[in-house]
Formats: sequence, C-alpha cells, structure tokens
Amino acid sequence: MTEMLRPGDAEYDQELAGFQIAVPRRPDVIVPAASAANVVEAVRYAGEHDLPIAVQSTGHGVAVPFEGGVLVTTHRMNGVRIDAATSTARVDAGVRWGAVIEAAAEYGLAPLSGSFPGVGVVGYTLGGGFSLLGRRYGLAADQVTAIEVVTADGELRRATPDTERDLFWALRGGRDNFGIVTALEFGLVPVTRLYGGSLQFGTESLATVLHVWRDWAAEMPREMTSSLAMVPMPDLPMVPEPLRGKHVAQIRIAYLGDAAEGERLVAPLRAAAPLLGDTLAEIPFTESGSIANEPPFPHGYRADNATVSELNDTMLDAILEHAGPGAPVPTVVLLDLLGGALSERPEHPGVDWDREARFTVRALSVVDDAGMVAIKAAHEKLFDALKPWSTGKLLTFVYGDSDAGTEASKVYSPADLRRLAEVKAAVDPANRFRLTHNVEPARDAG
Ligand SMILES: Cc1cc2nc3c(=O)[nH]c(=O)nc-3n(C[C@H](O)[C@H](O)[C@H](O)COP(=O)(O)OP(=O)(O)OC[C@H]3O[C@@H](n4cnc5c(N)ncnc54)[C@H](O)[C@@H]3O)c2cc1C
Repeated sequence: MTEMLRPGDAEYDQELAGFQIAVPRRPDVIVPAASAANVVEAVRYAGEHDLPIAVQSTGHGVAVPFEGGVLVTTHRMNGVRIDAATSTARVDAGVRWGAVIEAAAEYGLAPLSGSFPGVGVVGYTLGGGFSLLGRRYGLAADQVTAIEVVTADGELRRATPDTERDLFWALRGGRDNFGIVTALEFGLVPVTRLYGGSLQFGTESLATVLHVWRDWAAEMPREMTSSLAMVPMPDLPMVPEPLRGKHVAQIRIAYLGDAAEGERLVAPLRAAAPLLGDTLAEIPFTESGSIANEPPFPHGYRADNATVSELNDTMLDAILEHAGPGAPVPTVVLLDLLGGALSERPEHPGVDWDREARFTVRALSVVDDAGMVAIKAAHEKLFDALKPWSTGKLLTFVYGDSDAGTEASKVYSPADLRRLAEVKAAVDPANRFRLTHNVEPARDAG
C-alpha cells in the first residue's frame, strides 16, 4: 500500500497546504500519489472503508471545506509529453501550465493556458479553461482528446469522444464529481509570440476607462483577448509607487497578431485617460504570465461570477457602486471579453455554458480583515444588481464558497444537471466523490 498521512504526522500539514488558505479541510487520510497505480489504491481504500474522497493538485480552486475522508494529492504526478507531429500534449494529473508552456514552446506550440502559469492543467481544463487565446481558439476543455480517470469502483478508464462518451462529456464541466483524472491529452496551437501586457489607470479614471474599454471591446477581432481588472491596491511598500493605495483600472491584452497592428488596435485605450503604467510589447508566449502578473503567494480568497449578455451603463454604475473605491469590502472585479471562438460549439462539447454571453463579471475578495460572511454579502449585492442581464455562472471561478450543497444547481441547466446525475449514478452510485460542488447520483436511474 502506498504511503498515507494522518493528522499529527510530520508531513500532513505541508501536504495539505495549497494556494487557497481560507477553506479549511481536515481529511482522515492524505494519499500523496506519484502514479496512476497509487490513485487506484487510494480510491479502492476509500471504497473498502466507506469514505468520501477528494483530490487536490495546486489548491487554486479548492471547492469546499470538509472534515474526514481521503484526500489524494497529485503534485508528484508531473510528466509532460509533447507530440509535435500531432500538435498534442499528454500531461499527468499534477502538472501546472508553466511546465506545458515551456515544453510546447520548444516545438513552436502553445497550450490554451490562462492568466496564471501556476494553475493546474487538470482542474483548469475540467472547469472549462478560459485562455489568453480563448477568443481565437475556444475553451481548453474543447481541445481535450482523451481523459484517463480512476472512477469510484477503483478502475482506470480512458474517456474519449469514442469510448466512455458520457464520462468524457461529464468530466469537462462536472470536474471532480466522477473520479480522479490521472492524465489528460489535448491539442496545442501554433503560437510562439503575443502582443500583450497591461495598461494601468488611476482611481479618478475608473469610470471613463470602464466605458471606453466596453465600447472598444465590441469592435475587436477574435485575435484579441482582453480583460479589465479593477484592483484596490494596498497601501504597502511592496506595491510600486504610482499604484500604491490607488483603485487601479488595469486593461489586460493578449493579441495574436503583429505588434504594429496591436499598437493600432490599443491606441484608443492608451488615449482613454492618463496612464500610470504601460507594459504592452511583443513578448514570447513563455512570458504570458506577465500580462496579468497575479500574486504567486498563497492567500485566502472568496470569489463569485456571472456571465452577462451585455455591459450597459447601469451595470457599469452598479459595478462602481458595489465594488469600486467606496465599497464596504475591498474587491477585485474582472471583466472578461467573451465571444469569438468561445461562442462556437465544438464537435464534442463538454457540459454546456452560455456560449452567447458577451462578458464574464468576476468579483474576488481577499479573506483577511473581511471574513467570508461579509464578503459573501458584498458580492451578493453586486450580482443582485447585475441579475437582469446575468445568463449563468462559471463554477471554475467560484472560490471559497460555503454554499457547496446548492452551487451545482445554480450553474448547470436542469437538463444538464439531470444528465450529470445519470452519469454519476452509473460511475459513482455511492456518491464517494462528494467533497466538492456535488452532483448527486440520480436515484431513479437505471
Ligand atoms: C490566480 C488564479 C488565476 C486563474 N486564472 C484562470 C484563467 O485564466 N482561466 C481559467 O479558466 N481559470 C483560471 N483560474 C481558475 C482555475 O482554473 C481553477 O481554480 C482550477 O480549478 C484550478 O485547478 P488546480 O488544479 O490548480 O487547483 P486545485 O484546487 O488543486 O483543484 C481545483 C479543482 O479541480 C479538481 N481537480 C484537480 N485535480 C483533479 C483531478 N486530477 N481529477 C479530478 N478533479 C481534479 C479539484 O478537485 C478541485 O475541485 C484561475 C485561478 C486562480 C486562483
């Protein structure tokens, strides 16, 4: 039997630690897995002892708090193989995007990775995977060609568009409800360079920049992926002087075209208001993490989101009122431009989301002085105000939520929830994988 860690063991706390530190979990047993065989053993152990089971890679997207059960950690499973002939990658369960970006670059290829290279490939992709290249190439989940997964019966299965088809569908969106993925295979795209970076504006320009970006975004080709972040910068020495203590508007750009055309496209943004910072330049894709430049250190956070059909002036006013400089809880708001290839249905889609939505609105607050409860109330006010234009919600951007029992019913359509519950009944009838935003097995499936 593979190694197991229990509370009190010297390495237990370190093995449990992840990026998110505000969602407490205390499993009875942690299984540090180094191979698919270790995962099989762990799942069979959970079955024999009638225990629920969860999985963690980096801890960026920890779903729910829990006590007891088995936690399988995958960060030792870090094999990456690139097949240049087919432009595909095969990665083990614990691989982070940074490793795939580096390996693929040697062949002039890139994965559909996101803003932060430290995020895990499997959790990201099973949640959809909204990439810096998304408007040109679609969701990361839509590039997946095969998923190897250990289901609750302790069997290692291979799900593809042709084998285990229901499981192949359910895993891409239903994430960790159906088993522990041990390896993922997916397509890469021919990208080596980007015109990218960010533009930063000060507190007094927030409203102007929001409006200018919203209008500009409507005109952009699919080669342009962009987000606008509103960030309350702490008044601390670690924050560079022009931004320190300000509520900054940060426009993030990832443009798949030459620098001259990129410069032309962003000219109206540069002219929108006085700039506090401008990092836009041609960069190798291996430096794509510098665009958002997100903090790399573990912290506690809570986040919620909505997909929206538009961003009208009433909505921009509500965002400024509930999450701007005067808001009761310091909140980072991220507006992501959707559309382009993200709107197109691939041949083998995963669980549906609103592909017609124009933007996502995400709110993220650090759990620090403001506790989870105060943050939840503040986020609710914001999303209540946006409700008339909200078309859905993305589970992959829900963090630190204590409404675990109800979250699945909020994100999936009734038809998809029913189909997910049927797949669940087939592969996990005892609901062993329930320490997450749980989809319960259909009781009448048969
Ligand atoms: C700073 C930051 C930046 C981000 N940027 C983006 C972005 O640009 N685009 C985007 O789409 N998302 C982004 N995300 C969201 C991110 O994709 C999700 O939080 C994702 O779930 C993280 O996966 P992980 O493996 O790193 O984290 P973990 O917390 O280890 O896992 C997250 C979830 O995935 C499940 N999971 C992990 N491994 C497995 C496995 N082997 N089998 C089955 N289930 C598994 C876990 O059970 C858990 O529910 C970002 C998140 C953060 C914190």
